[in-house]
Amino acid sequence: MSLATKAPSLLELYPEDTRDAAALLKQAVPLMVRHSIPPNPVHYALWYTYSKGQEPGLNRRLDKIVKDFDSFPAETAAKLFREYIIRGELEEAQAKQQQVINLVDDIEGDVSHSLVGSRNYQLSLEQGLAALQEPLMDDLPSVLSELQESTQLMQDQQEKFLYRLRAAQGEIQHLRSQLDRAHAAATLDSLTQVFNRHAFTRLLEKTLSNDHQGVALVMLDIDYFKQFNDQYGHPLGDRVLQHVGQLLRDLLPPRAMAARYGGEEFCIILRDCPDLSMAYTYAEKLREKIQSLRIKVRRTDKVLDSITASFGIALAEAGDNLESLLTRADDALYQAKHNGRNQVHPESPETVLSA
Ligand code: GH3
Ligand code: MG
Ligand code: MG
Repeated sequence: MSLATKAPSLLELYPEDTRDAAALLKQAVPLMVRHSIPPNPVHYALWYTYSKGQEPGLNRRLDKIVKDFDSFPAETAAKLFREYIIRGELEEAQAKQQQVINLVDDIEGDVSHSLVGSRNYQLSLEQGLAALQEPLMDDLPSVLSELQESTQLMQDQQEKFLYRLRAAQGEIQHLRSQLDRAHAAATLDSLTQVFNRHAFTRLLEKTLSNDHQGVALVMLDIDYFKQFNDQYGHPLGDRVLQHVGQLLRDLLPPRAMAARYGGEEFCIILRDCPDLSMAYTYAEKLREKIQSLRIKVRRTDKVLDSITASFGIALAEAGDNLESLLTRADDALYQAKHNGRNQVHPESPETVLSA
């Protein structure tokens, strides 16, 4: 939790000037008294907002509750407070949201049960109400000063509350970034930063189960990579894989997904791809870009020989599943290797040639 920064004053959330605020108070207090609403900061904020009228949904719900219940249910007040007063603070929360809501409930409890604050506040509210109902008052300054004092006390409590709420928000952010990291670790390949095989198979399965139309699979395998590793060493081989990953991410068409399928093998799921010719054009571009990669040995600045890759492509058909589509793309890739490498081989070359 980050407790280092001071929370902003609650006044920032209620920018009315003193006269407007007093007018709103004058409306809110009689309502609270009329409906026997416990005078705690949660209710104060709710009925003040009610009087402002900027949350019609809140007003409707408060009207209904005072109509339906003899005493205002505490948990409902807490819920409305979360929904209408501090909602921006919690909207972002995804991970362990319930845990944080419980924390907020605890804090609310702290504030609500602060005897000193509530009793003093109640007293001065009653006095204030009596005074406000008098058209001409001799003791207006003292009533106002008492009201101001108790408002100050309550404001201090609310600031403390907001301060703790900010801390809770920090906790939410922390949990959220942890969740994002865990999600990335579960779906991305750490070396190349494209998706991993698990994420790839899940997405392809899901895509095919929805609709095969416009789905194409491109499979690529780096040529003679074992030889490359043997000649230049594994760390440099890793760098080649990183460059290829970067290239795939840079050249990814909209709605497509690139993944590392295995060691030096990558797959791309293309969407909105009506025919093999389109997949072929895309794979050709990738092939040329990979061949044009210039990788330097860092210590000597020596530029290494070109890397090349072979490609197999297949277009999804009705009835295809993960295995059948992968097999056809893999067979096409095998043909590309067999025909001499550094080339793209479609599952049915005649459709591409005639296109
Ligand atoms: P081909 O043209 O037939 O594909 O030949 P190849 O040498 O690329 O194929 P082969 O399957 O025989 O070898 C693949 C090599 O890829 C072997 C392995 O050392 C290398 N490799 C797999 N994963 C990694 C990795 O994470 N890092 C590095 N540096 N090399 C890897
Ligand atoms: Mg291979
Ligand atoms: Mg290979």
